Amino acid sequence: EVLIKVDNVHKVYANNLHALNGVSETISKGEVVVIVGPSGSGKSTFLRSLNLLEVPTSGHIYFEGVDITSKATDINKHRQKMGMVFQHFNLFPHKTILENITLAPIKLLKKSKEEAEKEAMDLLKRVGLEQKANAYPSHLSGGQKQRIAIVRALAMKPDVMLFDEPTSALDPEMVGEVLELMKALAHEGMTMAVVTHEMGFAKEVATRVIFMDAGQIKEQGTPEEFFGNP
Ligand code: ADP
Ligand code: ADP
Repeated sequence: EVLIKVDNVHKVYANNLHALNGVSETISKGEVVVIVGPSGSGKSTFLRSLNLLEVPTSGHIYFEGVDITSKATDINKHRQKMGMVFQHFNLFPHKTILENITLAPIKLLKKSKEEAEKEAMDLLKRVGLEQKANAYPSHLSGGQKQRIAIVRALAMKPDVMLFDEPTSALDPEMVGEVLELMKALAHEGMTMAVVTHEMGFAKEVATRVIFMDAGQIKEQGTPEEFFGNP
């Protein structure tokens, strides 16, 4: 079942830089797609265009059958179903962890505070951070902050999770705890698109590896096809 379809997308930035040069791709439900390639090859632009954080210059993107690049589409409604995790966490510094997690479910899903907080606490327990509920982001380690950013996205019950270099800003000793949570999500069947330099994660977890270069998808396949069988 196709979840995301990308049809001949180009992205030209203001400086006339051609970041995406005719990208077509489909992502099906349950897939874990890992996007690799050199710096500047368009990986982040590709990922960010999936939820229209970057608006394609031309081409179309369909999410759950809807052309989200169409001017007539209310992107906010569809974006709620796409969880996004960034390199730099993007937690609200002046809100507690619990407030960070419950904000969108209360505001956008119209949940009661009680229900949103109960669900948030369940998610926090799951990642072993329930004791941080009333702490502020600055009191958490990088690995804890990134797990909270993932939990915050999960609180919206997304149909797909998009990860843009989720471990690149972390101290090495904290990379593992974030990758473990991502692995657990993958094993539960979450559809995921992940830009990462963590080749171990790609080998172990990806259902498909996409190699980008110069704004194009140059190669793709299973991890076995991509990395070869040892
Ligand atoms: P990657 O994620 O593979 O490193 P990016 O998608 O971040 O690649 O960037 C692709 C190209 O587009 C790079 O040359 C980058 O400098 C450029 N680029 C990215 N974002 C912008 C922007 N907002 N304005 C202008 N150029 C950009
Ligand atoms: P990341 O690796 O997380 O994509 P970058 O350092 O590539 O981070 O980019 C940081 C920000 O700067 C992004 O918002 C990106 O769109 C923007 N950016 C990247 N390259 C350029 C560029 N050449 N001109 C203008 N903005 C850029």
